[in-house]
Amino acid sequence: MTEQIIPLSVPSLKGNEFKYVKECIDTEWVSSAGSYVDKFAGEMARYAGTKYAVACSSGTAALHISLILTGVKEGDEVIVPDVTFIAPVNTVRYVGAHPVFMDCDDYLNIDAGKLARFCEDECDLITGGNLINKASGARIRAIIPVHIFGNPVNMDKIMDLAEKYGLKVIEDATESVGSYYKEGKYAGRKTGNVGDIGCYSFNGNKIITTGGGGMILTDDSEYARKADYLTNQAKNDSIRYVHNETGYNYRMNNIQAAIGCAQLERIEEFVDIKRRNFSLYKKALDGIEGLDLIGEPSYGFSNFWYYSLLVDKERYGLDWEELMKKLDENGIQTRPLWQLNHRQIPYKDSQAYRIEKADYYYKRLLNIPCSVGLKAKDIERVAEVMKDV
Ligand SMILES: *Cc1c(COP(=O)(O)O)cnc(C)c1O
Repeated sequence: MTEQIIPLSVPSLKGNEFKYVKECIDTEWVSSAGSYVDKFAGEMARYAGTKYAVACSSGTAALHISLILTGVKEGDEVIVPDVTFIAPVNTVRYVGAHPVFMDCDDYLNIDAGKLARFCEDECDLITGGNLINKASGARIRAIIPVHIFGNPVNMDKIMDLAEKYGLKVIEDATESVGSYYKEGKYAGRKTGNVGDIGCYSFNGNKIITTGGGGMILTDDSEYARKADYLTNQAKNDSIRYVHNETGYNYRMNNIQAAIGCAQLERIEEFVDIKRRNFSLYKKALDGIEGLDLIGEPSYGFSNFWYYSLLVDKERYGLDWEELMKKLDENGIQTRPLWQLNHRQIPYKDSQAYRIEKADYYYKRLLNIPCSVGLKAKDIERVAEVMKDV
């Protein structure tokens, strides 16, 4: 008998999704003018605790528009993590700016301590409050902290540095919908609600999905107005179609938003499941020498979007790749850490500041099945295969 595949991360669409989508089709409101788009944006703003939210076609689009809004221009530099899905790095290039890669901390997030040293040692803060990178002579205008796999970045430290050095902060909260701060200056605030702008993604593998989609979150009314304008082809006159700037077709449509409204109704349940399953994994893997799960930082609450396992070959006997193969042979899907960005071909000549930990995690990390539909018996099956070495 062949066992069922345990996928890495698949969505659950068993709530009101079908009902709301059927309503879009019955009423023939399927494009971007439907009422679900505004409803979803309003509900996301309430959920994130920001004054405004602008729905768009993807998380990548949200990041691109955010860089334009915060004034990042051709020739500028933007600080980004070395460990992240490549989307935020690419958006820096979309506006003609260049990335500077930072190392990660033990939660895989941008290392605030190293960032402080970089700004202190490798940059000049010139009159007017501009931070200039000594190596390139370029102005560093912004930073994109990414809450990797759901773990909140230490924003207390990042925001202090941003203020000291005059940097705009665009939070990539695409993986961390549902995560928040328990302690510090931002206690009680969700990820995506701390920086100048926050971005969410509703891609198919994220904790809630619209099939594809994103959200720009901000408390700044001017940013919100401009985000709406730019994502809608920068229309200054909607009768004569006058466009005073180059706009984008980055709109979300009503069907996507309808799915989003239904998904958002279940976010608390999804976060609970993710956290419960993390505990189950932790218990099931307890006592396996050389396998350790990355937890959450003391100051933050994680949505535990992904479960990151560290595989120590010395103690466990297999490395991540051998374990991945073994799990795959047993119908269990996993995925290692992304190629480090400073080694990606388009960015191999970009500046990377003292990358050390990123490499350590790159050689050990394996993400294991984390869908909200994952059952206790699935977790046991994963653990059994891991024990059998
Ligand atoms: C998913 C993701 C994005 C991009 O979102 P899309 O909606 O797929 O464009 C950006 N950044 C990170 C870290 C992501 O994981």
